[in-house]
Amino acid sequence: MMKIYLSADIEGITGTTHWNETDAGNAEWEAARQQMTAEVAAACQGALEAGATEIWVKDSHDTARNLIAAELPQAARLIRGWSGHPFLTLQELDNTFAAVALIGYHSPVGSGGSPLAHSFTGKVTMLKLNGRLVSEFLMDALTSAYVGVPLVFLSGDQGICEAALAFNPSIQTVAVKQGVGASTINLHPALALERIRQGMAQAVAQAAAFRQPALPSTPIMMRFTPARSR
Ligand SMILES: [Zn+2]
Repeated sequence: MMKIYLSADIEGITGTTHWNETDAGNAEWEAARQQMTAEVAAACQGALEAGATEIWVKDSHDTARNLIAAELPQAARLIRGWSGHPFLTLQELDNTFAAVALIGYHSPVGSGGSPLAHSFTGKVTMLKLNGRLVSEFLMDALTSAYVGVPLVFLSGDQGICEAALAFNPSIQTVAVKQGVGASTINLHPALALERIRQGMAQAVAQAAAFRQPALPSTPIMMRFTPARSR
């Protein structure tokens, strides 16, 4: 029995470039949620190849009702909506899981890594923890370290992949896109799936050798600048 916890967002999948594509009320969202689902399914496939038996998949974008359940392998349990647990995107994580993986993650607010760069709700223009720019990746990495489960894999834009490697070089990353101003340069959707499947298989196979990062020193200082309404 090997359980994996996977959290998926939409802004860091290949292709997404504009907020219209991330918004469930918009026609352009349909293609984005399909690629998001395909990237999650590819990651599940990689995990299964490496011996995983169960993959808990947290839909972590906005309403958390984006992924298409029937297109995931049967070993996946889809978590939709938000329970209110403070772990947010890792809301069920405990030490019975062998590894954590993040799909579709994106550059944080205050960085130039993506036209969709933001942190959490988009209602802050700057968020720092002990002087370090806070991304959704960083919060998940700290939560995973706190619970004692290795965060072994991340796919998303190139900026967040670089941030993940700077935080902990034992994380496997796959960059599926690069942000340039208000534009993106993207991998072909099928190539993105192939790289995610392979990277995930390798990362899960090596989870036991993972080196946990140090938790930040106390006192913890959070600084944020609220956004004007947009
Ligand atoms: Zn999102």
